Amino acid sequence: MNGIPTSSIREGGSIHLVNPADETVIRELAHSTLAEVDDAILHAVSAQKAWAALPPAERAAGLRRFAAAVAGAVEELALLEVMNSGHPIAQARWEAGHVRDVLTYYSAAPERMIGKTIPVDGGIDVTFLEPLGVVGVIVPWNFPMTIAAWGFAPALAAGNAVVLKPAEWTPLTAIRLAELALEAGLPEGLFQTLPGRGDVVGERFVTNENVRKVVFTGSTATGKKVMAGCAHQVKAVTLELGGKSANVVFADSDLEKAAATAPYAVFENAGQDCCARSRILVERSVFDRFMELLEPAVKGVTVGDLYDESTEMGPLVAKAHFDKVASYVPDDSQVAFRGSAPAGPGFWFPPTVLLPGSRTDRVVTDEIFGPVVSVLPFDDESDAIALANDSVYGLSGSIWTRDIGRALRVSRGIESGNLSVNSHSSVRYSTPFGGFKQSGLGRELGPDAASAFTETKNVFISTD
Ligand code: NDP
Repeated sequence: MNGIPTSSIREGGSIHLVNPADETVIRELAHSTLAEVDDAILHAVSAQKAWAALPPAERAAGLRRFAAAVAGAVEELALLEVMNSGHPIAQARWEAGHVRDVLTYYSAAPERMIGKTIPVDGGIDVTFLEPLGVVGVIVPWNFPMTIAAWGFAPALAAGNAVVLKPAEWTPLTAIRLAELALEAGLPEGLFQTLPGRGDVVGERFVTNENVRKVVFTGSTATGKKVMAGCAHQVKAVTLELGGKSANVVFADSDLEKAAATAPYAVFENAGQDCCARSRILVERSVFDRFMELLEPAVKGVTVGDLYDESTEMGPLVAKAHFDKVASYVPDDSQVAFRGSAPAGPGFWFPPTVLLPGSRTDRVVTDEIFGPVVSVLPFDDESDAIALANDSVYGLSGSIWTRDIGRALRVSRGIESGNLSVNSHSSVRYSTPFGGFKQSGLGRELGPDAASAFTETKNVFISTD
């Protein structure tokens, strides 16, 4: 590494953004000040009132225009993400397309914010789903575009305004998305991106009384702070936090398929994925055979040129994060095998498979958030469930078996918000996503996400 700071906060409130693939400085960006954040929130308050007063069909049309603007900018957004976040181009294109799809999906919601009619004595009772007002969305650096869209698309659809705080290291696509909203004709102030520090901009979303809900995605430690801050104003909060998910492989499974897909369940986005199945649990009777199959699959992951369509894995996002990941693999004592990675410059870390000495080793318990996976044996079904649940987290996971009864028993037994059977897939915009235990609070995506950005108002109308 050439010694250029990854992203240094300078006096005067700006940041040097660094390309993680080669450590070149790509831009210097000013941080938002507290006064700018407060002004933006006030602006959002008035924009929201006008937005909520529009007929639902007009709000739906606005979101469709926003989706179309994103569709026209997929390549531009993808190239920004390659440069700013170190994502391979094929993955970055998928992410920009996903933003378009999320917006399209929630563009139907304004006309489907359906209340209830409830039979009561002496009149009728109706409920309305009222927008909250201004929603603050705080996102991390691992999937800057997609995670932002999971917050802003349903929030806007429900009639709210949004202020978005991107991670300090990766703000460029979020800034462009707010410009695209304006270009699509959404009202000024309705959707604003405010780059800056978490302990300045992010904290202001929590403390400013005009922000009525905070959607936070990031580490469990910061999520706890955000939740405690929201408690002071009894402010609504959704938290999507860390994970240490299990990929559970039974002896009766299609072992070849389970081994061939296991790298993609953890090394996608260089393991910087809250859904990463970073613990592979394998039934003891097939453990050795599984490891034989896993080795070529891991060594076959293509790591390198981010502009090559076939590249599957890029670098870690920043030097500080590289150092954190590297601290979990100080030597080769637990390493079973590794894939390849460029030497540098850039924050390249090879796909790494560990055989931990115990079930309580920190590589087994901590969210490493890099391309590092631990493989552990289990004895039987109940041991597999107990081992999968032996974590403070409960976000994701996979179960590999040909026995449908076992698939259902183990799915019900694992304390996790999102499981897949005989698959490593994690997220679909049309299905709910969120965590058990310290992986979070509330759900994003799916058919109910827009109503999570409303208050239910109950009105009784006397017929006397
Ligand atoms: P953080 O939780 O610190 O950051 C997430 C977002 O919160 C960023 O936008 C950050 O801003 C902002 N933020 C930071 N402090 C505050 C605060 N006091 N109030 C409000 N917002 C705040 O995660 P890190 O980026 O530090 O990553 C640390 C670890 O967290 C990772 O190594 C990984 O283990 C985990 N993580 C999990 C993610 C997930 O999807 N579950 C995503 C990212 C990280 P800023 O960038 O300016 O600090």
